[in-house]
Amino acid sequence: MIIAIDGPAGSGKSTIAKLTAVRLGFAYLDTGAMYRAITIRALEDGLDPEDTQAAWAIVEIAQAALISFGYTEGEALPTQVFIDGRDVTFEIRTPLADRYVSAVSALPAVRAALSKQQRRLGAERDTVMEGRDIGTVVFPHAELKVFLTASPQERARRRAQQNVKRGVDQTDEAVILAEIMRRDAYDSSREVAPLAMASDAILLDTTELTIDEVVDRIAVLVNEKRT
Ligand code: C5P
Repeated sequence: MIIAIDGPAGSGKSTIAKLTAVRLGFAYLDTGAMYRAITIRALEDGLDPEDTQAAWAIVEIAQAALISFGYTEGEALPTQVFIDGRDVTFEIRTPLADRYVSAVSALPAVRAALSKQQRRLGAERDTVMEGRDIGTVVFPHAELKVFLTASPQERARRRAQQNVKRGVDQTDEAVILAEIMRRDAYDSSREVAPLAMASDAILLDTTELTIDEVVDRIAVLVNEKRT
């Protein structure tokens, strides 16, 4: 069974998807981390993702790179992200990755390469998969599709809190809000697999809900699908 959880930046996807996976005993896949890992590699190679001349080199990285996930002892779900064996767990969450990831993820051949890996991983186990296009493109026949939203202000507040916890420098909510709005606009307007709600997805606005309330609702929906 695939549970697709899509939505804009800061809508609570990661937190909700992870807790849902733990509750149901499913695997968890953060597809955004994959786009972020490719972005970090491209930047390290001196490529500018916003320069169209760099596109082919970035596509080659996406086609050849091995992205994997690692576990910290005692954790039920993967917490570390590796690209070609190198730990990029911290780097993929920096403002630099935020800044360039949308340009990388707008490249159709990068999407094709990563979607292929996502389908392969999803075919192996029951999985909660979070991203922007899981319910629309990667798994259009997912048994359950949830689209999470929250007000932009709430999303910026959550991301700022997360940055404090992760030790990421940027914690100014106004700056984060502007960055979130820029990334949403970019992700929603790209030609291939834009951020969009599938017609058969269930919309959950998490602005006024606690994390537990959202996970409870998803668990109820899963049970309904199973019976
Ligand atoms: O989910 P997260 O915010 O980490 O995703 C980072 C970026 O990766 C998004 O802003 C989007 O550009 C891209 N992405 C995507 N398709 C996905 C997951 C993420 O285009 N399935």
